Amino acid sequence: MAPAKTETQHAPSKETKQGLQTPGSQLLHRSLTHPPEMVESASGLEIRLADGRTILDACGGAAVSVLGHNNQQVLEAMLAQAQKVAYVHTQAYTTSAAEELAALLVENGRPHGLEKAFFVGSGSEAIESAAKLARQYFYERGETQRLHFVSRRQAYHGNSMAAMSLSSNVVRKLPYQGFGYPNVSHVTPAYEYRYKLDGEDEDKFTKRLLGELDDEFERLGPGNVIAFVAEPVIGATAGCVPPPRGYLAGVRSLCDKYGILLILDEVMCGAGRCGTFFAFEQEGDVRPDIVTLAKGLGGGYAPIAGILIHEKVVDVLRKGSGSFVNGHTYQAHPIVCATALAVQKIIRQDRLVERCAEIGPVLEAMLREELQDCKSVGDIRGRGFFWGVEFVRDRVTKKTFDPAIGFGVQVQQEAFRRGVAVYPGSGTVDGMKGDHVLLAPPYTAKLDELTLICKVLKESIKSQEEIHL
Ligand code: PLP
Repeated sequence: MAPAKTETQHAPSKETKQGLQTPGSQLLHRSLTHPPEMVESASGLEIRLADGRTILDACGGAAVSVLGHNNQQVLEAMLAQAQKVAYVHTQAYTTSAAEELAALLVENGRPHGLEKAFFVGSGSEAIESAAKLARQYFYERGETQRLHFVSRRQAYHGNSMAAMSLSSNVVRKLPYQGFGYPNVSHVTPAYEYRYKLDGEDEDKFTKRLLGELDDEFERLGPGNVIAFVAEPVIGATAGCVPPPRGYLAGVRSLCDKYGILLILDEVMCGAGRCGTFFAFEQEGDVRPDIVTLAKGLGGGYAPIAGILIHEKVVDVLRKGSGSFVNGHTYQAHPIVCATALAVQKIIRQDRLVERCAEIGPVLEAMLREELQDCKSVGDIRGRGFFWGVEFVRDRVTKKTFDPAIGFGVQVQQEAFRRGVAVYPGSGTVDGMKGDHVLLAPPYTAKLDELTLICKVLKESIKSQEEIHL
């Protein structure tokens, strides 16, 4: 393996290269003005670009890749399923691939009462499905007045209508004001670095958040609320922020008090990334009613997401209409399920969730050691193979950089020039525009790769500090 370089690679400027790589592209890229890099091939953590550069993937795309690229066992499983049966419609058929994947996930979920799995193609669809299932649960119970959802500021749950409404990403919502599901309110996120008051300890912070949620349920009329929706560890819009002690268990108690469902969005933080299969498993007695999974489920080999459903929800449908009114043509697609099954079997066989738990603290120590002299690093937090580095102009006041700088993006671009991909993000709520980068390497990342990632991140941050501090 050619190691990613730790110094700026002598490649042509981004603009020139990108223009050359996608001449007259017919594809509507995310950006019409800055087309993405052309990729030639990938294996392990390495992504080889068409111009010969090699990138070490420290973020698995957006926390997607869990085994790295080009895993032969997964590729063989894909092909074998394609040769057996590529597609059947789920109205009339099922496949061993879908059944086995459901069984494997339910084995993980059963200790928490999660009894059934439902598979779709993306995290947004999983959230839509969770929201609709929660509504159908109350509809079948005759509680048709329940129409409200409560989620949190600084949350990202996806791009589709309901998922966007549950989210708080200001930029992504801006052009679509007036679209979406109207009955959603947002409470303060469990994000200590930004929302814990001076002099408040962790317990007081937790109590305040729970008090606010209780007040919000009361304000809406608790009998009108369908569900509270939250990411156990906040991903893209905050940067790998685990909740304070007792928060999620407290949320569960509040939901129980009012008969409100708890939907946990583990699209990004789940499937082992945080060191337990479900991130919520580190938070005490949480027992979610519906859990979403996506990125780490297929590890990027297949577009798959799913929801796992608590027996109490399944029971109501079983005794009621007998079906979940939410069919998709490609739900539980055989090749996609066989691929995810192979990924999950490898995760089990190679004890990769355990590896995330064991190596997570090592990665944390490396990050803290490497970044200790970086003046712009305000906070480092995360779990397992899911770490966020938040940037500030001033560590004492936690003042953020001028949003026009896009400090997190600058760091990401600098790291990319030096051969390492990290994921940039920012939250834009309550007048605070934060900057962070997110590290979410595949669970197979070797120690020397993690060392290199931390070193390059430090160099990239320092080089941007020289310009912007
Ligand atoms: N939920 C969370 C927590 C996510 O991080 C994302 C995507 O980043 C989604 C939902 C939406 O998933 P997708 O992009 O697959 O639609």
